[in-house]
This record gives sequence, structure tokens and C-alpha cells, in this order.
Amino acid sequence: MEICSVCGLPEDLCICEEIARETQKITISLAKRKFGKSMTVVEGISEKSINITDLAKKLKGELACGGTVKDGRIELQGDHRQRVKEFLIKHGYSEDLIEVK
Ligand SMILES: [Zn+2]
Repeated sequence: MEICSVCGLPEDLCICEEIARETQKITISLAKRKFGKSMTVVEGISEKSINITDLAKKLKGELACGGTVKDGRIELQGDHRQRVKEFLIKHGYSEDLIEVK
């Protein structure tokens, strides 16, 4: 069985990601793209403690939109700022630490 080197618990009981979620300071902003298209940018997620690719995949599924992970930021097509915030809160991220611009 894999043991987490940070908290010392077996991987399936590891609480590191849970703690990381609660302490993550996230910024959700809107960026303008060419041709007037907008894009929701999620920043501040630590790739060390959170599987950002997996999070982006879940967000894309939830919002039914396209998106990418680039330089530690999640970029989603369209303006989904409120829904991204709600999604993150529902998944254990702290509401107080999420800033929507
Ligand atoms: Zn751990």
C-alpha cells in the first residue's frame, strides 16, 4: 500500500488534498479573448497538493465547456465565474478564500 510521505497515512486515507483545498486562495477572473470571446481563468491552485488536471476535467464536465490547464491556471471557455465558485465550495474549497473578479 502506498503511504503518503507528507501526512504519513495510506494514500486512500491521505488528508493532504483536503487540507490543501481548505487553505487554497483562489482567484476566478474573466479574460477577453480574440473576437470578443470570454474565458474564465482560475488561478492560485497549488499543483503540488492538488491534481489540477483532474480538477479541470471535472469543471469542464460540470460546465459542459472546453478548457485547458496552462502554467498552473485553469482556463475555461465562456463566463462561468459564479458556477466555478459554487463548484469549488461544493468540493470542499473555502468560500472565504475564493475571490471572484
Ligand atoms: Zn497525505
